[in-house]
Amino acid sequence: MPNPSFDDLRIDGDRLWRSLMELAQIGATPRGGVCRLALTDLDKQGRDVVVQWAKQAGLKVTVDRIGNVFLRRAGRNDALPPIVTGSHIDTQPTGGKFDGNYGVLAGLEVVRTLDDHGIVTEAPIEVVFWTNEEGSRFVPVMMGSGVFAKAFTLEHAYAAKDTEGKSVADELARIGYVGTEEPGAHPIGAYFETHIEQGPVLEDHGVTIGVVTGVLGIRWYDCTVTGMEAHAGPTPMALRKDALQVATKLMQEVVAVAHRHPPHGRGTVGMVQVHPNSRNVIPGRVKFSIDLRNASDALVDAMDADIRAVAAELSRSSGLPIVIEQVSQYPAQPFHDECVRAVAGAAERLGYSSMPAVSGAGHDAVYMARLAPAGMIFIPCKDGISHNEIEDAKAEHITAGANVLLHAMLERATVVSRR
Ligand SMILES: [Zn+2]
Repeated sequence: MPNPSFDDLRIDGDRLWRSLMELAQIGATPRGGVCRLALTDLDKQGRDVVVQWAKQAGLKVTVDRIGNVFLRRAGRNDALPPIVTGSHIDTQPTGGKFDGNYGVLAGLEVVRTLDDHGIVTEAPIEVVFWTNEEGSRFVPVMMGSGVFAKAFTLEHAYAAKDTEGKSVADELARIGYVGTEEPGAHPIGAYFETHIEQGPVLEDHGVTIGVVTGVLGIRWYDCTVTGMEAHAGPTPMALRKDALQVATKLMQEVVAVAHRHPPHGRGTVGMVQVHPNSRNVIPGRVKFSIDLRNASDALVDAMDADIRAVAAELSRSSGLPIVIEQVSQYPAQPFHDECVRAVAGAAERLGYSSMPAVSGAGHDAVYMARLAPAGMIFIPCKDGISHNEIEDAKAEHITAGANVLLHAMLERATVVSRR
């Protein structure tokens, strides 16, 4: 049950907004965005600023060997695992001010608010920023949280190189953010992440808070349809083996299969290669990508079976071989019931409109959900746009999301006294 002694507590929206705008100065682009790629000098400057703010708030700073930074506010029982929030401060080359940065600074604002009101929590509270979430300069994406969750090794991450051949290990050392703590050694009691939605659903519904129930599972395929190249003039329609004609039917089905698995089914063909790609030649071979997503692995399995059955039927009726090869897969990650309820309950008590949401994009919270109860809070962003310099969010939504974060975290961390 919510403790009545902190129901009236609110974050300082102006202070949070000012911090966001100040951090956005580092790597600011002429079009109003931010370019602060992982492990660059600008990333170091951004990190230094956040660490300085954390020290001003009296937080204890710990850095692990992949450069994840943990900012800790002690609990009355400091032996309890901390209630953690965070995100990332690296950006895309044409990134915005809010993606990631909002989640980190909302966490810092929660801590500042607790200090303002002299609140003591039973469990410690921590704010973390994870190294290289964006994956723009170094692959894999969500690198810091991925190493932390042992999705891949520290050595694998260290060896990753940018296009100039510079490695993560060297660049992390160069900016001075190789810590001593072993990644993953840090206990986590529960994890919350506040993020702009990066999609249009909340704005479309006119809703302030997205209560994120999970992250969609993703499967990627390469599909090849093989026909026979022949002259576009002399070859009668009945005697053709037109690979593109068959491929386009299957492409339509990729979209149709998503519609057959609502509400979260997604089907996308984003890449097509036609061979020989000549105006007066019947296409002999078409290769295209398939991206299938849904809220559970079982639903993605069902979409997989559905599209394969359609492909088999198309192959039988056309006589053309169709090969569908899976190239990668990311399991669906549902968030923890208690964290989802904490977010929904906080939004309700605070009087914000809310709705369940799913994330179609990856976040650090996906890896944290493997380690501890986790949940996410979405707020609308303008036109659903992100990974773009025009990315924008309303101050009232920024404030609302951080207030929900505050109350969800306090529910987990338990308030023991208030000045
Ligand atoms: Zn992000």
